[in-house]
Amino acid sequence: MPELPEVQHAADSLGIQIAGARIATVERLDWPRMVETPAPEEFIVRLAGREIRGWGRRAKWILLELDGGWTLALHLRMSGSLTVHPADTEPDRHTHLVLRLTDGRQIFFHDTRKFGRARLLDAAGLAMLNDAHGDEPLSEAFTVERLAGLLRGRQRAIKPLLLDQSLIAGIGNIYADEALWCARIHPLHPAAELSTEAIADLHAGIRAVLRQALANGGSTLRDYRNSYGARGTNQDHFHAYDREGQPCPRCGTMIVKTVVAQRGTHYCPACQRR
Ligand SMILES: [Zn+2]
Repeated sequence: MPELPEVQHAADSLGIQIAGARIATVERLDWPRMVETPAPEEFIVRLAGREIRGWGRRAKWILLELDGGWTLALHLRMSGSLTVHPADTEPDRHTHLVLRLTDGRQIFFHDTRKFGRARLLDAAGLAMLNDAHGDEPLSEAFTVERLAGLLRGRQRAIKPLLLDQSLIAGIGNIYADEALWCARIHPLHPAAELSTEAIADLHAGIRAVLRQALANGGSTLRDYRNSYGARGTNQDHFHAYDREGQPCPRCGTMIVKTVVAQRGTHYCPACQRR
């Protein structure tokens, strides 16, 4: 699933192509469950004629700022991608939402597994989406002290806490494993028992792995493409994630894979002791 770096690239590569354009019509919506709010009929009516004023990202949501105070929020989930096409390109059968722009171009929301979602939000709806998510880990407000405060008193293992979008937004399985490797923290370590030094290392690790992934265009394991259709290259730079049985880049010990909170979890048993 795309995480913060991939969603940021998807948002930027989409926004730069369509900012200032106007949506003429929703040309295809053949998987109505994709639209979480409002009702699909209303979604179609309200999107028609809207200008795309800007774009952004919140957690793993791509946000298209529209005129009239509306925001089109799009979530790629497992296999979604958003791409921009000339007027005459035919969408394939996995393209479940097509927005036709007044200049003739089309935006395709392609999603083989159909977990992708769309919401058309007014200001209150956008505020609710914001409130449902925790800190943006690359924001200035996300300091070492802030992270320490988020983890204080929590006896849960650190890895599932890192995946909890209501605490910290945008980190998924890849960057949780990578950040813990960077900080030399075992994924099952109780969050409340991390030392001040370990929390500082984790904070630095979270930021470092996200920034590296941003610099590499995100990670493409299977489906992820940015909105130009390009793959990321950060998967070539993993330290622990997806490297079971390969040597730890720091100490040479074999990376092991286990399951933590139902998620495949990769770590170095020498560097990341419990
Ligand atoms: Zn190691």
